[in-house]
Amino acid sequence: MTDTPVIGVLALQGDVREHLIALASADAVARPVRRPEELAEVDGLVIPGGESTTMSKLAVLFGMMEPLRARVAAGMPVYGTCAGMILLADEILDPSPSSPSRSSGGYPISGQETVGGIDMIVRRNAFGRQNESFEAAVEVDGVPGGSVEGVFIRAPWVESVGAAVDVIATHGGHIVAVRQGNALATSFHPELTGDHRVHALFVDMVRAVGRLDPGRISRVRIDSGDAKEKADVRPL
Ligand code: GLN
Repeated sequence: MTDTPVIGVLALQGDVREHLIALASADAVARPVRRPEELAEVDGLVIPGGESTTMSKLAVLFGMMEPLRARVAAGMPVYGTCAGMILLADEILDPSPSSPSRSSGGYPISGQETVGGIDMIVRRNAFGRQNESFEAAVEVDGVPGGSVEGVFIRAPWVESVGAAVDVIATHGGHIVAVRQGNALATSFHPELTGDHRVHALFVDMVRAVGRLDPGRISRVRIDSGDAKEKADVRPL
């Protein structure tokens, strides 16, 4: 491929480094993104796993919440894992009681602010405390080569989706991966497994947008080269 996209990882909290490595292995140039100027420079963004309440608070504090909403609404490809899935939900259930109140942003019924962008209701910690962490084979539509190893850590599930959302994976009768246009979300953490097929799917989504907007790709070509060497992996 000549078109090597530049993909950011929202680096406010969570497993940023693992995503940077997975993206570089899937032939993207990967960068941490903390500021609006950095967000403006990437072709796509991963929102990592971590703690969605903390990430949401930090996004507001760092002046990132509105720029994130604006770019996602404008069609920037975005992929959220676990806490990142929660941040991409238009509505969430069972939020932390200590999260910011509705008055701080007006986002959904729960009070915990989200970036939104996927027409779905996500239930936090849905797989329950008893099973805080488990692994399961998950078939993901659009990911060739058989099931992926789903690592679920205090994972959410998707309670319901709107008509524009494709359900691309389920586990135990619950929705655990979805896609709506340029937005992708999984309840589980492919970045922790060493199998980068889900990241490769996302990198392809970013490339597809680049092909429709050649102006961006000509800029990106300047950056191309060995993506693995270009991953900007810094301790947080
Ligand atoms: N339960 C966490 C939250 O609500 C998500 C856990 C994870 O990202 N592994 O943010």
